[in-house]
Amino acid sequence: MTTPVPPNAAKTEGCRECKDLECGREHAAAERDLSRVTDFNVLICRHQRAHANGS
Ligand SMILES: [Zn+2]
Repeated sequence: MTTPVPPNAAKTEGCRECKDLECGREHAAAERDLSRVTDFNVLICRHQRAHANGS
């Protein structure tokens, strides 16, 4: 049986770390701190990959 699970939609919902990372990225973007935005993008990407792996 196959369960169609979107890569990083459902699981990231309600994840506090996802929220924190996105929040941090928004703050960095608001401050035009592009290097921090990039940092957060990497962290979010890495973290969501962990979600995709099912851990
Ligand atoms: Zn998460």
